[in-house]
Amino acid sequence: MATLSKASPRVRQPSAIGPVLAAWASDPRDSRGRRHPEPPAPTRNAFQRDRDRIVHSTAFRRLVYKTQVFLNHEGDLFRTRLTHTLEVAQLGRSIARSLGLHEDLVEAVALAHDLGHTPFGHAGQDVLQECMKAHGGFEHNLQSLRVVDVLEQRYPDFDGLNLSFETREGILKHCSRRVARWMETVEPGGIGARFLTGAQPSLEAQLANLADEIAYNAHDVDDGVRSGLITLEQLGELPLIARFRDAALAEHPALARGPQRRLLFETLRRMLSAQVYDVIDATQAALQQHQPATAEDVRASPALVQFSPEMRRQSSQLKRFLFQRLYRHPEVMHTTERAKQLLRELFALYVERPQEMPADFAGSPLRERAVADYVSGMTDRFAIREHARLTGTRVFEAM
Ligand code: MG
Repeated sequence: MATLSKASPRVRQPSAIGPVLAAWASDPRDSRGRRHPEPPAPTRNAFQRDRDRIVHSTAFRRLVYKTQVFLNHEGDLFRTRLTHTLEVAQLGRSIARSLGLHEDLVEAVALAHDLGHTPFGHAGQDVLQECMKAHGGFEHNLQSLRVVDVLEQRYPDFDGLNLSFETREGILKHCSRRVARWMETVEPGGIGARFLTGAQPSLEAQLANLADEIAYNAHDVDDGVRSGLITLEQLGELPLIARFRDAALAEHPALARGPQRRLLFETLRRMLSAQVYDVIDATQAALQQHQPATAEDVRASPALVQFSPEMRRQSSQLKRFLFQRLYRHPEVMHTTERAKQLLRELFALYVERPQEMPADFAGSPLRERAVADYVSGMTDRFAIREHARLTGTRVFEAM
């Protein structure tokens, strides 16, 4: 644990709370608690318990049939929301351990971060935003919180999963001031407050957020090349990719002659490792500079979990490349447009005929909100089936 002793002289005992924690880590024993008080679990800390509740939720199981970039039925090897989520959790835990952060909290936030994602990836989010404009809006991040706070119904005494403050804080990574002000009225000093005061979330929350970016950049390159819509040659325009591709070829010249996939994997493997080490080093340096003495100090510091400036620049460049060449590729856009049309029609149909939804949703006095909750919870294939049932038209064939 050389990294720990370098930056943190105060290391807490491992004991039942989990692995060795740095002074700036979140500690489940200091948790701000749950909205509905519950006795502690005998064998698990609060963050482990949150993680377990997330894994057992219905919304978590749906992630397997929700699109990340490529529709679920377009190929069995593309990422889904579930495999994306697991990659974020893996990267997050791995970095957390090096920084002495609480792995269980990073894992809980990572596993929950996309629970509110609509079917059909960003196409779904765009349509629900458009349909909900005059009805309070829709944002997938807020929807993830709504899933764990309200929509999951498994416990006799409360709605939602009753997660701890720290896990909920990590799930809510963006929030407009308008929504934050509303949240303050229902939960004063709660997880919305930092969007009004400019405070930061825990380091574990900051890390889960950055692990999301690292994961999707790398796996979207992989899926993009697998789909044939982008090539390793085009990706070579990016210094970040070229650097690791060239290093892989220098060490293994035979990769130039073999199947390109092996070269791609080796390039991405090296890039992922370099990004992980970069975050650890840059974050250690920021921690040294700001010296937060406790997890509370972290909230008053600037954001500390970070890439180095050069890696930040290169990662943003890769993100822009993927946006222009993959997410905006005509073939992806064509599928996206069909998915959008399907969801617009589905939304309008349920607003007109709420009795087509299950009783819980059909009976809600807030009709549009109930439709948004119902539609956003759907898997891709369920949305396609429902649309076919209600319209008699099947938009996507292969399911
Ligand atoms: Mg994500």
